[in-house]
Amino acid sequence: MVTGLLEKVDAYLFDLDGCIYFGESPAQGAKELVDFLRSKQKKVFFVSNNSTDSAMDIAERLHQMEIFVSPNEIYHPTGFIGDYLYSLHGSVVLKVAGSNRLHESLMNAGHRILPIEAKQCPDWVVVGRDINFTYEKLTFLARDLEDGAALVKTNPDSFHLDADGNKVPETGAIASALEFMSGKKGFVVGKPNPLLLQKILTDNQLVPSQCAMIGDNLLTDIYGGKQAGLMTVWLKGNQTIEQSETVPDITVRTISELGQLLNT
Ligand code: PLP
Ligand code: CA
Repeated sequence: MVTGLLEKVDAYLFDLDGCIYFGESPAQGAKELVDFLRSKQKKVFFVSNNSTDSAMDIAERLHQMEIFVSPNEIYHPTGFIGDYLYSLHGSVVLKVAGSNRLHESLMNAGHRILPIEAKQCPDWVVVGRDINFTYEKLTFLARDLEDGAALVKTNPDSFHLDADGNKVPETGAIASALEFMSGKKGFVVGKPNPLLLQKILTDNQLVPSQCAMIGDNLLTDIYGGKQAGLMTVWLKGNQTIEQSETVPDITVRTISELGQLLNT
């Protein structure tokens, strides 16, 4: 299955957390693989469901790991969601539960953000990972959803892992409370929606058959990669999954194992 992978694929789209790094620690072999691919004139992009940091924050974190990446090689919902909503509806009125970076990005895209407790119902409620999410926010935002606001989520993940391997609540956990209370389902812009992957392809004049998506999450990275028509490489790590409807093209244990396969 792996034969000719390096020759066939011109652009490598890497998931970040659990693939290139684990929290603040680089994955063994990640820097070497990125450097190797670039030495072969391959294009390298990074696609994360992170809704907390800006692309610049992430580029700086990678820089600390000696992985040198420009912010415009990093695609994530925080940077994309505002422009995406603008492309659909122009400037809209929002209420936002999420990070400061998410707020900044939505305002920079030309949207107006109301205070959560405002009486006015927004056009959209935007939800990302909000470490200050409260019972009060749940009350107001669920009310807005029932009154007609639409719900958009940066990403569907219910948790990510911290440096000690403990689960940290993610956007999906917060959005589920809002969806459950309001009875209204939200729309996801991050993986597995192929929107971000398709944006990489259009921005860089690539076609799906030239590209591979590499990630540790079958439900987001691999499912999304397949939706976009890309070759998919699953980093299995220690995950044990008996059966899944999402079947990756290639399964390896770690990024360093992928590096060895490509380099032989
Ligand atoms: N870190 C943070 C702060 C996040 O919000 C997320 C999203 O789930 C992740 C990491 C995981 O992102 P990914 O594995 O797509 O890079
Ligand atoms: Ca991941």
